[in-house]
This record gives sequence, structure tokens and C-alpha cells, in this order.
Amino acid sequence: MSFDDHITAALLATERAGLLRTPRTIETRQGPTARIDGRDVVLLCSNNYLGHADHPALQGALSSGVQHWGAGAAASRLVSGTMPPHRAAERALADYVDLPSALLFSSGYAANLGALQALVGPGDLILSDALNHASVIDGCRLSRAHVEVYRHGDLDHAAALLRQHRSGARACLIVTDAIFSMDGDLAPVAALRRLADEHDAGLLVDEAHSLGVVGPEGAGLCAAAGIRPDALVGTLGKALGLGGAFVAGPAATVRWIENRARSFVFSTALPPALAAAIPDAVSIVRQDSHGRATLTSHAGRLRQALRHLGLTIPESPSPIIPVVLGEPSVAMRASARLLELGVFVHGIRPPTVPSGTARLRVVPVATHSDAHLDQAIDALTTVLREVHP
Ligand SMILES: *Cc1c(COP(=O)(O)O)cnc(C)c1O
Repeated sequence: MSFDDHITAALLATERAGLLRTPRTIETRQGPTARIDGRDVVLLCSNNYLGHADHPALQGALSSGVQHWGAGAAASRLVSGTMPPHRAAERALADYVDLPSALLFSSGYAANLGALQALVGPGDLILSDALNHASVIDGCRLSRAHVEVYRHGDLDHAAALLRQHRSGARACLIVTDAIFSMDGDLAPVAALRRLADEHDAGLLVDEAHSLGVVGPEGAGLCAAAGIRPDALVGTLGKALGLGGAFVAGPAATVRWIENRARSFVFSTALPPALAAAIPDAVSIVRQDSHGRATLTSHAGRLRQALRHLGLTIPESPSPIIPVVLGEPSVAMRASARLLELGVFVHGIRPPTVPSGTARLRVVPVATHSDAHLDQAIDALTTVLREVHP
């Protein structure tokens, strides 16, 4: 058997299990609708929460950034890749989340990997929520710290694990998503802060889905809860409409990550034009309280409509609406039927979600019109009655 035969067999087995993924090509810019296979459809599965991915002012900021700073950064930040736009972006991001310092990364995935690997190591303890994002899980593994996973959102379980394992460890870090990406529920960050303090532990919060969306001026869940994490990870690729990410925290923590995070040290700096657009992205998102209100109202309408179909839809201030259907084949059939009806909702399967909880992840954006939502609700009603009578 050649190596490629090996891989082909694995691919076939994955396909037979209904778990093979093939990305759809979005043939237009990322808006409330998009063209797929030549047809315009309502786009109900992006993380473009406020619709800023095609914001005219951001396009302008990127263009003038290119004019001024050129195309690439040409080296890692610690070699010759640090330019004024990177520093200005870090200042704007730190100010936004009200923490002393921030450090850019090429993606949220790289930020979690780098921050966790830098902050904890062998001999240390990590407490991680069972539903944390894959990049958090991978960062925990890469750190080589001892990892204990607490049941999703379960503070009693987290406390029990701390009582059992804290004394044997040097440093300890509690790690959680702020808004959980596939369920849309919120972490109890204030209680986690207290728990961390009681046990002489740090708290890292991943605000990927909350930044721009919840809290004062969209500053995130920690800001909303009035707590300070020891490290905050945010991505610029979701509500902020760009790409890239950052870790924010006290100056020494950020300085340490700058020195030790391998995904930062050994990786080319963000293109300066992208960095140059970040302060604009921050300022646009801070001011868009109208977008946040519209997003909340859209999500409320969709939740209501789905409940009318007899589905159990949890309440949440987040725009992420999980419609759990069970088997991957059911979720994929529903997704394919919705696309036929002009609505793109992605089916989410294991390993992204636990086995038996394949789902549609329904996410509106603030720039959807009422007519877009009407069309989405009609299509969801038709399809969910078919697959889930
Ligand atoms: C999307 C996401 C990331 C990764 O961020 P990217 O910038 O897309 O790499 C990290 N954490 C969570 C919780 C996410 O949802």
C-alpha cells in the first residue's frame, strides 16, 4: 500500500461515516447574503456578527494601509517585522479590553496555542472547560501542563478538581471560552475569577465570539461581568471584520508571551496594512451599538420561530443558536435542503461537537433585513418539519 493509498482509505472511511467536509465557495463578498454555485442565498452561518467584513471604512483603511506600508511584513515581529501599525493596533486593542498590554497574533488559533504554551508548562495545572474551542485544547496539550477538564460550566466540578490537584502543582491556570462557539452559552466568568483567586490560580478567557458583541461597547464578557482576566484572547476575524488576533493582559504577562510563544516568535508578522486597519476596526465596532441591538433582536426573532416548531432552544445574549438534531446525516440533510431553499446554514458534526449532538448552527448578522429573516424562518420551518417531524 502506498502512503497515498493509506490516506485514500482513511478519506473513504470518513466519507462513509458521513463526516467528510468539503468547503462551499462563497462567490461574493461576505455580506448578509452570498452567492453559492451562482445563486444568491441568505448567509446564516458566518461569524460576521455586525456585518463589518465588508464595511466601507475598513476597506478604505486597508487600502490606505497598503499605500503607506506596502504589502508584507517580511519577517517575524522579533526580527524586523515590527512596524508602527503593529504597535498602534496593540495599543487600540489593549485600550478596548481595558487591560495594560496586548500582542498581535496571526490568528486566534495561533494566539491560544502561543499563550497557553508560554504561560504554563510541565509541573503546572490547567483547568479547562469541556466545551472549550479546539485551539484551547491544542494549546493545553502543547503546554505539557497537567490538564484537568471540568464539566461544561460546572463550577462545583472545577472547585473539586482544584481541591484535588492544586496543591501538587506549581502554577495553575483556569481556561475558558467566554461564549461557547457551538452552543452560544456564556461562561460564568465572574465565578471563575473568584474560584481562581481562592486557589491562587490565573484565568485565561477566550473572547473570540464575545468581542464586539457583548459588554459595554462590545468590549466582551469580562468587561460585561466587571472582571479582569490574567490573559484575554480576542480574534479580529469575527465581529471585528478583519483577521488576526491578540492576547491582552498585564504588561509582564504580555512581555513573557512575546518572548516565549512559539506561534508568535517563529511566525511572520501580520501584514502592516492589516495591522493599520485594526484601530479603525476597533473604533467602528465600539460605536456600533445599533448593530449590536439589531443583532440581539434578530437572534431573538430566530429563537422564537424555532421554539414555535417545538425545538428546545436555549436563551442567551449571544447570536449563536444551536439547533441540535442528533445524527450527522440528519444535520447534513437539513443543511442541504435549506440551501435548496436559498438559505445557507452549516451542519456541524463531530468532532467539532460531541457525538450524538450534530446540529445546525444558526447565526444571524446585524445587516440581515427583516425580509432575509422572513425567508430564513420560512425555510427553517419547512426543513425542520421534514427532518424533525
Ligand atoms: C474562532 C475561534 C478561535 C480561532 O480564532 P481565529 O482567529 O479564527 O483563528 C479561537 N477561539 C474560539 C473560541 C473561536 O471561536
